[in-house]
Amino acid sequence: MIRIYNTLTKQKEEFKPLNPPVVNMYTCGVTVYDDCHIGHARSLYVFDVIRRYLKYRGYDVRFVRNITDVDDKIINRANDLKVGWLDLVEKYIAAYRKDLRSLGVADADAEPRATQNIPEMITYIQALIQKGFAYATNTGVYFSVRKFKGYGKLSGQSLDQMLEGVRKTTAESKHDPLDFALWKAAKEGEPFWESPWGKGRPGWHIECSVMSQKYLKVDTLDIHAGGRDLVFPHHENEIAQSEALTGKPFANYWIHHGLLTIEAQKMSKSLGNFITIRDVLSKYPADVLKIMYLQAHYSSPVDFSWEKMEAAKKAYESIVIVVDKLEKMNIPGKPGGLNGFRDSFVSHMDDDFNTPRALSVVFDAVHECNRLMGSGDALKDDKLSDILYSIKEMAEALGLSPGKGDIFKQKDINDKANFLSFVAAILRDERGCMITGEMSEKEQIDLAIKKRNSLRKEKKYKEADDIRKGLDAAGVILEDSKDGQTAWRRKI
Ligand SMILES: [Zn+2]
Repeated sequence: MIRIYNTLTKQKEEFKPLNPPVVNMYTCGVTVYDDCHIGHARSLYVFDVIRRYLKYRGYDVRFVRNITDVDDKIINRANDLKVGWLDLVEKYIAAYRKDLRSLGVADADAEPRATQNIPEMITYIQALIQKGFAYATNTGVYFSVRKFKGYGKLSGQSLDQMLEGVRKTTAESKHDPLDFALWKAAKEGEPFWESPWGKGRPGWHIECSVMSQKYLKVDTLDIHAGGRDLVFPHHENEIAQSEALTGKPFANYWIHHGLLTIEAQKMSKSLGNFITIRDVLSKYPADVLKIMYLQAHYSSPVDFSWEKMEAAKKAYESIVIVVDKLEKMNIPGKPGGLNGFRDSFVSHMDDDFNTPRALSVVFDAVHECNRLMGSGDALKDDKLSDILYSIKEMAEALGLSPGKGDIFKQKDINDKANFLSFVAAILRDERGCMITGEMSEKEQIDLAIKKRNSLRKEKKYKEADDIRKGLDAAGVILEDSKDGQTAWRRKI
């Protein structure tokens, strides 16, 4: 039984989707006006983990994540940079997609863009006007907050409290300061679409109501997720719009992740501590960043630091080394029901996706492998095989991939190019031709090691060490044992 902390009811509740095994899940996506930073990475990743885990538990998760591609921030940035708003949007959507791939965050089942759903938003707003929940003025169309009885139920605030938080602008012709824009009339030079209320564009909140219900094809979502900073007013407004229209609950479970700070400060360009996803992934594999995130509960804040990344790297290395060793021992990784790690992992993840505890189970399994490898246990290989299977299964559910494969999978492509030309140079020496293209990475590395060992026999220590350094630079670490054998492993 999965239990989820629901922001709406302010308690942990048993998760009961409306039509199991289907789970309809929506998360608010990025506004594309700049490179994605590591706060976005956390948001994308925590919901990827929740989605993966629900699938792992047998649910058929239908996952929609929007892209906000028209907004004040986009228009302002495009004006600052003196570029067209659409050019800016296309550039940052491409960058965002690249970030998702390098993070290893799965694509959504649908990732709709706001500007490609304008007619549906207009119809939705028209229906709200017809029902008496919205009104048009010369600056746009507004939602009458006081007409919707449940306003404030998600953020738990009274109308008076919310009034204090609302920016009072005189430029807008709202009937009440609490009312919010569903449609904004276009100002000079702004992008616009034709509508019954003249040229304009949709407000931010209406996008999510329309696209979630349209792409999931339901009035009531099972899970609506987003950052804690979106509870008020964004999610409060989404509820008001959707429930005013359908008369049904908009989402049964509201999940919010905690926010990210950088060494105890808010991340901002003016403070010079703005860290993009690309920055981090140029220094560490995505899995190390993921381990760092998993070490905090999704609902808690995370304070990013490079020290934490180093610690996460060491922790991750311990998993990779064990998996690597077991694979070199030809341990198959088959389920045997000989360990309790999976059960304990599931019990922690079922408890509101408690990743810090679930991750500690993965490390317990790693320690147990290390213990078994050095033991004389008669069932050693069977037990190791069973635990290896569990480690891979748990890692997969968390979106980690410590198994074998391309050693350059998550590293910069230059490393691979350097490595290939390095090995080619050794081989050219050896055989007078370049044959690296026909060899697997493992064969290339083995050959380089063979060459190094023969150089050592010839007492050409400097040349031999150059090969070790070259491999090291390419991400391969050599380990010499006392009996003269040389093993290698991937560097993290
Ligand atoms: Zn939203």
